[in-house]
Amino acid sequence: MNKTMTLLSAALLMAGTVTSCQKTTSTRSVYDRQFENYPTYNGDDLELSVDSTGTHFRMWSPKAEEVTLNLYDTELNGDPYKTINMTFNPENGIWTASEPTQLYGKYYTFKVKHDGKWLAETPGVWAKAVGANGKRAAIIDFANTNPEGWASDKGPQVDNFTDVIIYEMHHRDFSMSPTSGIANKGKFLALTENGTVSPEGEKTGIDHLKELGVTHVHILPSYDYNSVDETNLQANTYNWGYDPQNYNAPEGSYSTNPSDPATRVKEMKEMVKALHDAGIGVIMDVVYNHTAENDGSNFELTAPGYYHRHWDDGSYSDASGCGNETASDLQQMRDYIINSVKYWADEYHIDGFRFDLMAIHDTETMNQVAAELKKINPSIFVYGEGWTAGDSPLPAEQRALKENVANMEGIAVFSDDIRDAVKGHYSNAEDRGFATGKPGNEETVKIGIVASTAHPQVDYSKGNNSKFPYAASPQMIVNYVSCHDDLTLTDKLRKSMPDATDEERMSAAKLAQTIVFTSQGTPFMFAGEEIFRDKKGVHNSYQSPDSINAIDWSLKAANRDQMDYYKGLIALRKAHPAFRMTTADQIAKHLVFDEIDSEKTPNLISYTLKDNANGDSWKEIKVIFNGSDQAQSVELPQGIWQAAVKDGKVDPEAGLANLSGTVSVAPRSALIVKR
Ligand code: CA
Repeated sequence: MNKTMTLLSAALLMAGTVTSCQKTTSTRSVYDRQFENYPTYNGDDLELSVDSTGTHFRMWSPKAEEVTLNLYDTELNGDPYKTINMTFNPENGIWTASEPTQLYGKYYTFKVKHDGKWLAETPGVWAKAVGANGKRAAIIDFANTNPEGWASDKGPQVDNFTDVIIYEMHHRDFSMSPTSGIANKGKFLALTENGTVSPEGEKTGIDHLKELGVTHVHILPSYDYNSVDETNLQANTYNWGYDPQNYNAPEGSYSTNPSDPATRVKEMKEMVKALHDAGIGVIMDVVYNHTAENDGSNFELTAPGYYHRHWDDGSYSDASGCGNETASDLQQMRDYIINSVKYWADEYHIDGFRFDLMAIHDTETMNQVAAELKKINPSIFVYGEGWTAGDSPLPAEQRALKENVANMEGIAVFSDDIRDAVKGHYSNAEDRGFATGKPGNEETVKIGIVASTAHPQVDYSKGNNSKFPYAASPQMIVNYVSCHDDLTLTDKLRKSMPDATDEERMSAAKLAQTIVFTSQGTPFMFAGEEIFRDKKGVHNSYQSPDSINAIDWSLKAANRDQMDYYKGLIALRKAHPAFRMTTADQIAKHLVFDEIDSEKTPNLISYTLKDNANGDSWKEIKVIFNGSDQAQSVELPQGIWQAAVKDGKVDPEAGLANLSGTVSVAPRSALIVKR
């Protein structure tokens, strides 16, 4: 703990996230420290349950003076057909009301009286179905939302998290372009369509994912978020969705009918089922760290002052950069996060969770998240951003920071080390990295290659972003060079290599991804990189139009060579467990770097995976990265070596060439040989 504490700096608190939200401010201050001692309630029947005796409402709000329940016939507008005063139980902080019939098809809200004032209506924090714009909770029969074959539906089995290959995508990016050939553009159902092609006849949609070979898609926030008006979808408003409104219901704009509360549930399940049938797992991006609104959030309208953190003066603290942060260290919020991900895993068969600004949460909460999800399905993968976007009242040693990941068994963090070292710093568009010829990043790339684990040949004192081996296992690290945040890899290369050709930039992209896909840890890529998609230089496109964000699938035919390279890299990784070692000890024993003086020969890294590492069929694999714009000569140990990666081509069967003695490694390229 002390070691970590001394290394924390302001820079580490913001290691690579942009603020993708409209900042909310507030004047009301309601925090009550006594809350920490209030009774909590952890039943799975919170807010709504329907059984043979009727419909039951149980709302947690220990400080409320009065609570009423409003029942409606409609999702929006009109008066309640009935209003009920709920009854309080001080022993568990719960307000209850019951109706003797099953109210399927009806809607409800709660209204809380606090400090003598009635707050605005809220669907509560546990609405599992909602009408358009999520203003009223809906009562639906979930048994009727399951697609055919749902009972036997299962995601891919994952034995080790280093076997996972993640493809991060936004629903609209993936399918909105007319070139996608997809009918349900921007919808959950886009991922259920088979046989779709680009104008040039290249596979798109789910067939493209199968062709590429990724094991999991990571979908950007797909719970009900705030920013898109679901009653005016013709406006084609775009948002990433980092503005949570109802955490336990799907986003309406991704459904074909946001006004029918069951449709979004059904269609999201159909998406999951179709992906599972294709052998692909579904990871959800979850943003429990803050809410879109402060005083107007469902948390505040339900239990004012409880769910968010505050500074001593009573003001909202703001580690999210969006105006507030939630309080996972308080029992009811901790249980909320845990129960919410369990719900998605159970009801929607979700295979993994990516925690946005995970370090706003405490390590204890994250450990309980991982442990509880493992009970449901040991294949569920949990990872997150091991940083915050601002300071927090939560002590640094309790934060789920990447520097604390060794204390979080079953959780992985993004490696900003490899990201910035390979392509250049995320926040400085012109900055170059190892793959684009900037010297001085070699040791940090090595930190990435060994997944931030302790290795006898890696000198962490020379690390750019980290100064100690923070990961206890490669299963704690997710490697990447770009994601939805910041510039796409294509745009980064265009800005940092202004005088180069796109052909040269594509070589650099191949090298950058070769480093990611051969490094220890779990590889992660951003959708469309495999066809060299860009976002016209926009680095924070969270509300940019489709014209910036949508992937142009005609690029697939145009950049077919790039696609083939990515596909080859993925096939190579899948075929060779040497790239997917499962423990730090294995890496220290089987991965040996060649001693290269980076002062004399910068931008060159060479290492061997030896002795059939992790049960690999190849006895020895030599991996050489040349990030300079000059060819570099490398001496291969005695014998004949077969090339699996050479001159911008990949052959997982290692049939590209037979090599021996001194070999030349082309500028900005990787050479991978085996014997
Ligand atoms: Ca919404």
